[in-house]
Amino acid sequence: MHVIGAASYKDRVSAFDWTVVGAGFTGLAAARRLAELNPNDTVALVDAKPVGWGASGRNSGFVIDLPHKFELDSDDPDRLNAILRLNKQAIADLGGHVSEAGIDCAWSQAGKLQGAVKERGTGKMRGFVQALEKIGQPYTKLDRTEVQQITGTDFYSGAIHTPGCVLMNPVQLTRGLAKSLPKNVTLFDGCPVTNFDRGSRGFGMTLRSQGVTFELTTASVLLCTNAFTQEFGFLKNRIVPVITFASMTRPLNDAEMEAYGGQLDWGLTPADSGGTTLRMTQDRRLLVRNQYDYAGQYGVQDPDLDPIRKKHREAFDKRYPKLRHVPFDSSWGGVCGLSRNHVSYFGEIAHDVWNSSCHNGVGVARGTISGKLLAEAASGRSSTLLKDMFAVSNTPSLNPPDPFLGLGVRARLKLAAWESKEEV
Ligand SMILES: Cc1cc2nc3c(=O)[nH]c(=O)nc-3n(C[C@H](O)[C@H](O)[C@H](O)COP(=O)(O)OP(=O)(O)OC[C@H]3O[C@@H](n4cnc5c(N)ncnc54)[C@H](O)[C@@H]3O)c2cc1C
Repeated sequence: MHVIGAASYKDRVSAFDWTVVGAGFTGLAAARRLAELNPNDTVALVDAKPVGWGASGRNSGFVIDLPHKFELDSDDPDRLNAILRLNKQAIADLGGHVSEAGIDCAWSQAGKLQGAVKERGTGKMRGFVQALEKIGQPYTKLDRTEVQQITGTDFYSGAIHTPGCVLMNPVQLTRGLAKSLPKNVTLFDGCPVTNFDRGSRGFGMTLRSQGVTFELTTASVLLCTNAFTQEFGFLKNRIVPVITFASMTRPLNDAEMEAYGGQLDWGLTPADSGGTTLRMTQDRRLLVRNQYDYAGQYGVQDPDLDPIRKKHREAFDKRYPKLRHVPFDSSWGGVCGLSRNHVSYFGEIAHDVWNSSCHNGVGVARGTISGKLLAEAASGRSSTLLKDMFAVSNTPSLNPPDPFLGLGVRARLKLAAWESKEEV
């Protein structure tokens, strides 16, 4: 893989056979697969930010095998099984790249806890168990004491442990994936696409970096821009950009580890999706993720992290009162693309423009496999997994325009936060 300094491209026009926009999990997988399938072609991979700065580098690090969140609303075992096959392939692919390229990202087959606090969470957990039984997936039920032995907190009334999820460090994984891309991929990171036009022979794009503007021409485009796809003129008013937030402590010292009393290297997602995600990393850091906001103004101004940090502190202190004094090292947010009908888009969205977007907040596995399969579809391949991907994808439903969308989403998020207050 070549990395391009913008200065060397000043006033130049460069031609590529393929251009992938977005270097998150989706774009990284798409660029890799395009380069593998078309070894004599040139592939540009472009991102507005350095690799690892987008949601793909900022998530909680769960690579989830099972249908998750709204996917569990489906009672169609064929659909649930197709999602499972796709996610499992994503985990196998990522695991293969991690070991081949020696990516140091704390990759761990730790599985996942799905935790419930009160009645609402327990009810959701029942639905989760029914879905697991429908697709014959193994699970272990844990009571309050068993959860406490792992997590060091008696906050949860119970949890379901499933073994197939992988935990990792997302910044290190995305950067490692970028570094190990095939030679025929050229990475332009920190280069937003500021203009995108269809010409008589392919497409033209204007990129900008550090005050330098340059042009790319390309025959085919794979838009792996998730929530930002609308800015390229596609799926307009169909993707709801929502930001969610996480905070992480510094590593606990020996005395704090003793007060904590749990194990290292586990992850818990809330049975009620409005609840709190919790993780203990291999290097003794506790992470909490909760809170959502409408991200329509993302990029216009930085989100105010003070109220978010306060909410994270409350969630942390409820779980770990003996660790109240342990500060958060960092807090951050990242933008996800949601759809009102909870579907993701996958396919050729216009002639020679391919898109996978709207991963509904669980895009590490889904993004990875959709990027790979998007490259296969664009290269004229077919496979059973590609059929699965088309079968589980659809067109996100139309939203009202802003400001009504923003008002509606914020009201819906407030209601969800109130309904889930005991699970946070
Ligand atoms: C705090 C948090 C925790 C999460 N936890 C998990 C988790 O544990 N597991 C999980 O599966 N999912 C999780 N998610 C969701 C997950 O991170 C996303 O679903 C996933 O990153 C989507 O990947 P993607 O590659 O499709 O999109 P993105 O990672 O959003 O990548 C799109 C890229 O497009 C680039 N781009 C946009 N516009 C332009 C432009 N004009 N020019 C150039 N580049 C552009 C952006 O800079 C961005 O890097 C979490 C998200 C957050 C924020």
